[in-house]
Amino acid sequence: MLKLLNDFWWFVKGSVQKKGTQNTMRTLRSKTYCVPGRAGPSFRVPGESQQEWVVPNPPPVPQTLSSAVEQLLETYTRAHSTPPDEPCPICMCSLQCPSDCSSQELTEDEGVVKMTKCGHSLHKLCARMMAESKQYFIPCPMCKTVHGVRRGNQPDGIMEVRTVNDNLPGFDCGTIVITYRFGGGIQGQGHPNPGHPYRAHAFPRRAFLPDNERGNKILQLLEVAWQRRLIFTIGTSVTSGLENVITWNEIHHKTEWEDFHGHGYPDPAYLDNVTMELELQGVTEADLESNVNQSQE
Ligand SMILES: [Zn+2]
Ligand SMILES: [Zn+2]
Repeated sequence: MLKLLNDFWWFVKGSVQKKGTQNTMRTLRSKTYCVPGRAGPSFRVPGESQQEWVVPNPPPVPQTLSSAVEQLLETYTRAHSTPPDEPCPICMCSLQCPSDCSSQELTEDEGVVKMTKCGHSLHKLCARMMAESKQYFIPCPMCKTVHGVRRGNQPDGIMEVRTVNDNLPGFDCGTIVITYRFGGGIQGQGHPNPGHPYRAHAFPRRAFLPDNERGNKILQLLEVAWQRRLIFTIGTSVTSGLENVITWNEIHHKTEWEDFHGHGYPDPAYLDNVTMELELQGVTEADLESNVNQSQE
């Protein structure tokens, strides 16, 4: 029975995973993996690799963004002809006065807009300010709905993926092993200290997902998040307290095989939680569908 199940997952993996990732897949030589240094059961990565590939690096971060801001406002906001008597969620002035709370009439530029996806209202100037600070998207200040495509400031690195036959605690299938590799560099625009160095502390880092249909879907979402530079950022590490280092960016990964420090399996809620965290970053299944459509064109 176990063998049957295992064979079934290998079949599913072959058909599902290849379909979604064939554009980005590059097959590498399989090898047995040993983890140097950090020995111990929580870092055990068993088995022979079945498949390995590297997810390509994201495109470089563009430097000029003013036209992107105009386009964001045009696409994701609509003029509100009868502003409600509510405080603006950004400046807290009434939506029936300008954003400096003066008693002057609202001009067109000082007008009120509705966000197209969620329908919440704010001053146009306040929406512009948000678009300028986030650059690629406007998060609704009321409900956080992402309007546009959220992109982060993760530095260039390597995301490697491979699969092994061994099953994670709580799963009856093989395992996806993701390895993230980074080096140090100089911080750029959008980082906490532009021009200053940053370090890649405690890399490579590994993360595990079950090699079943759900796990492969999450892997594809993580690949989208990687392409948008959302998985890591630069800042102060919560665990080590070190400053100017590459840190996780609110998409939790299971970095332990078994649950020794709260970062491993079994954890029945994990796949739901990480799906939700990806969604908060604006990465959803709709992104996978649009990728498939693009690759078919
Ligand atoms: Zn406002
Ligand atoms: Zn909203």
